[in-house]
Amino acid sequence: MCHYVCWMAPFMVLGTALKNILKWPSLHLKANIEQCINCKCCNKACPMSLPVNEMVQRAAMQHSECILCGECVEICPKDVIRYTFSRPQ
Ligand code: SF4
Ligand code: SF4
Repeated sequence: MCHYVCWMAPFMVLGTALKNILKWPSLHLKANIEQCINCKCCNKACPMSLPVNEMVQRAAMQHSECILCGECVEICPKDVIRYTFSRPQ
């Protein structure tokens, strides 16, 4: 739904890309890989159909299409994913 229908998603994707390029301090996702049990609940919950568990395994939580909705944060049974406020790496 968010991926294909929502008119706001392209603006959020553009905003994320811009802040990453300019390295502005902002809200990001951060993952604690050691706690991940690879259940893939995060993949199923992501409204943008992102491979969230792969992002966790690669410790690369900044995806250009992530709209920071927090669905993966909410659904994770091990609290692997959380929000952080920092500069993009
Ligand atoms: S929901 Fe949490 S524990 Fe499950 S694969 Fe995703 S990050 Fe790992
Ligand atoms: S915050 Fe999580 S669920 Fe939401 S778009 Fe980003 S990766 Fe997907």
